[in-house]
Parts: sequence; structure tokens; C-alpha cells
Amino acid sequence: MPTATVEDYVKRLYLEQERIEPGALVQPGRLAAAMGVVPGTVTTMVRTLADAGLVHYELRAGVRLTEAGERLALHVLRRHRLVEQFLVKVLKYDWSEVHEEAEHLEHVISEKLLERIDELLGRPRFDPHGDPIPDAEGQIESRPNRALSGCVAGEKLRVECVTAQDAEFLTFARENGLSPGNRLTVVRSDRVAGTVEIRRRDGKTTTLSHRSAESVRVSDAG
Ligand SMILES: [Zn+2]
Repeated sequence: MPTATVEDYVKRLYLEQERIEPGALVQPGRLAAAMGVVPGTVTTMVRTLADAGLVHYELRAGVRLTEAGERLALHVLRRHRLVEQFLVKVLKYDWSEVHEEAEHLEHVISEKLLERIDELLGRPRFDPHGDPIPDAEGQIESRPNRALSGCVAGEKLRVECVTAQDAEFLTFARENGLSPGNRLTVVRSDRVAGTVEIRRRDGKTTTLSHRSAESVRVSDAG
């Protein structure tokens, strides 16, 4: 069985790959920053992952998951996101506090318990943050979405997911109508000031920094 560290690396690599061009390599520095470790640690780990057949690695150029690596990453994401959904739906956790719990539980939950949770929840397709939950075969749904930071005044949007995971921002997001499924209109997007102002359905407005708005993924609200 892969260690928790191996699982964390392949999961993080999968999430980083999603943010760059399909097929491109993730730069080791980027992976190090995402993992919160020094580049040397990543280099050592990437070699271990390459030996295990989980990543394809080109010296200095970067790294990407092999098919086996992607399978493992999707399985870890499935465990993580199903656990989050379970904590919110059944145990009534707030969506801003489930990530930390899921970070631990994703490595230890048994297949049997996972299957029971999936069944109990009616095989949900999305987690509380709006991220898709891979199914048992590793199939994952993707809804076309883009960052709120790139939207312009007048656009009517639906929040698909919030990619930031820190509890403080998630609480802010919830309190300001930025939970997945919520609808909003862009009032103003000011590139120079670096701010985006949005209006919720109840008429209240909120201003976000462009940086925060980057982690709010939206789609057109038809
Ligand atoms: Zn999470």
C-alpha cells in the first residue's frame, strides 16, 4: 500500500496538472511550493515516485503522472471528497472545516467504509466545495468553469467550486454567497485596483481581491 506521503504527492500533482496545459509537465519548483517543502525534498520524492512507476520525470523540465499515478491520485481524491461530503451531509460539519479532517482520513479509510458512505449518500457527484468526486472506476466529471477573476461586469454566474482550502477563506466565501450552486452577478471588475465586486441574489454586494477571485470557479448561469 502506498504511504500517506506518496498519496499526498500524487494527489497534489494531479491538482497542479489540472491548472496547466493538458500534457505539460509540472515544474519541480511549483510542486515544492504546493507541497510546502524545499525543492530538494521534491527531487528526492519524485525519483521515488518514478521508480514506483507513478510519475514520468524529466530532469529539470518537470514531472507528470503516469496512468498508474493518475489512477492512484483519483482514488485518493475520491476518498477525500467523499469523506468531506459525508462530514457535511451526515455529521453536519460546516463545509469550511471538513478539509483538514479529510486530509487525514483519506489515507486510512477502508474500501468497505468508503463504499458504505458512497451508497448512503446516494453516490454524490460533487463534494461540498463543488469539486467532482471520481467514481469507483476513476471516472471524473468536469463541468466547464473559469475563474471569477477573469469575468467582466454584467456577467451572471453560478459558483461551481472554490479551490482555496483554508478555513478562513471558505468561511468568508460562505458568508458572502460564494458557496457552490449560488448565483451572482459581476458588478465591476477593476484590473488596476485588482478587485472584483459581485452582487448576490439577495442584493448584497461584496468586493474580493483578484487573488481571492482566482480561487472561485464559476460557470455561466443560464
Ligand atoms: Zn478538501
